[in-house]
Amino acid sequence: MTDKQAKNLCTACGEGEGKNKVAYSDELLICEDCLDLGKNFLSEQNQLELEETKVKAEKFGMEKVVEEVSKLPKPAELVQKLDEYVIGPAEAKRMLSVAIYQHQKRVILNNYGFGSGAKKSNLLLIGPTGTGKTFLAETIALLTDLPIHIEDATTLTEAGYVGDSVEDMIQGLVDKCGGDIALAESKGIVFIDEIDKLRKRGDSASLNRDPAGDGVQSALLKLSEGTEVRISTTGGKKQSGNPTNIVNTSNILFIASGAFEGIEELVKGESQSGTKAGFIIDKEATEKEKSKPKVVLAKHVIDYGMKPEFVGRFSTIVNLEPLSMDVMKAIITDSKKSMFTSHQLLAKADGIALTISDDAVEAIANDAFEKKIGARGLDGTINKVLSDFSFESPSEQCEEFEITKELVEKKLKAE
Ligand code: ADP
Repeated sequence: MTDKQAKNLCTACGEGEGKNKVAYSDELLICEDCLDLGKNFLSEQNQLELEETKVKAEKFGMEKVVEEVSKLPKPAELVQKLDEYVIGPAEAKRMLSVAIYQHQKRVILNNYGFGSGAKKSNLLLIGPTGTGKTFLAETIALLTDLPIHIEDATTLTEAGYVGDSVEDMIQGLVDKCGGDIALAESKGIVFIDEIDKLRKRGDSASLNRDPAGDGVQSALLKLSEGTEVRISTTGGKKQSGNPTNIVNTSNILFIASGAFEGIEELVKGESQSGTKAGFIIDKEATEKEKSKPKVVLAKHVIDYGMKPEFVGRFSTIVNLEPLSMDVMKAIITDSKKSMFTSHQLLAKADGIALTISDDAVEAIANDAFEKKIGARGLDGTINKVLSDFSFESPSEQCEEFEITKELVEKKLKAE
C-alpha cells in the first residue's frame, strides 16, 4: 500500500483529506475536485471535436453548394432569355432575375442545411395594367423550371370567411406541383395579382379602413413571412374533418403585383412640393427632375393605403413604366410568345407564310395605346384581324398572307 493510499488521499492531486473520493481500483482514488476538473476537460475536448466536425461538414457542404450554384443560370443569362419573350422593362427584368437567382440559391443552401442564414425577399411589382407584370413572372418561372401559382387578390378572404382563403393559394401551389409538398415548400412561387385592391379605402388612409382588404393583408403577412398551413390531402378545397397535410411557407417566394392606379400623383406631388418650397427655383434642376422616371417607393405604397407591415414583407419594389408605342410594336413582331408570332407558326404548319406590314403593326399598337390597356389589347385585336384567315386559309390554295393596315382598320371599325 502506498503512502497516499494509507492516508486516503487523491491519487491525482495528492490531497483531499476528508473529501469524498471515488475509488477506481486499489491504486486509484480520485477526489471530487479532480473528478470535476477531468469532466470539464473532457467536455471541452468534446466541444472542440464537435466544432471541428461541424467546420469540416460546413466546408464540405459549402463546396457542394458552390458546385451546384455554379450550374444555375446567372441573372444576366436570365435577362438574355427573358428578352426573347418580354419586351421592354429592362430594370424590372434585372431585378426579377436577381430575385429568382437568389431564390434558387436559397433552395440549394437549404438542401445543405445553410438555409437559416439566407433571408427571403418577397417582391412587389407596380405598373399600369398590361405592362407584363404577370407575364414576366410566369415567363421567368417557366424558364427556370420553378412552380408558380397565380391568384387574384380580389378573390381572397381571411380564413373562415366565404371565398378563397389566403391559405387556398398554398393548396393551388401544391396542386401545380402535382401534390409534391416538398417541391412546393422549397421552390414554389406564389404570384398575387391586383394586390392594390386590398388597400384601405378613402382619401385618408386612416379613415374607412376596408375591413376585408385589411384582413387579407394581415393574413398575407404571416403567410409570406413563413408559417405552417394545413391543406387537403386529396387536393381541392379543405373540408373540416378531412385529413390534412402541413405545408411550411418559409421558403416560398411571394410576388405581389398591382397597377396602383393614381399612385403617380403621390410620387409627383412629393417632387412638386419639393420645388415649390424654395424661393429660388433652379430651372435646369426642375427640368431634370421632370424628365426623371417617377419611382414608386415603399412610403408611397403605404400612403396609397397598404399596411406598413405588408410593405415590409414585400420589400423589393419593382417599377414598370407604361409601355411606349415602340415597345408595343416590338411586342407584336419580336416576342416569341406574341399572338402574331404564334399565328405565324400555326400558319406555317398549313404551309402559309404569314407576314404583317409596318403600318398594320402601327395601327394595332396605336389602338391598344389609345385604349390605355397596355399590351393586353394586342392579342385580342390580332385574333380579330385573323379570324377570317384562320377559318378560310386551311381550305384554300394559299401560300402567303399579309396583314395590312386596311384589314386592321376594317376589323377595328367593326367592333
Ligand atoms: P399585367 O399583369 O401587367 O396587367 P400581363 O402580364 O397580364 O399584364 O400582360 C397581358 C399580356 O400582354 C401578356 O399575356 C403578354 O402576352 C402581353 N404582354 C404584356 N407586356 C408584355 C411585354 N412587355 N412583352 C411582351 N408581351 C407582353
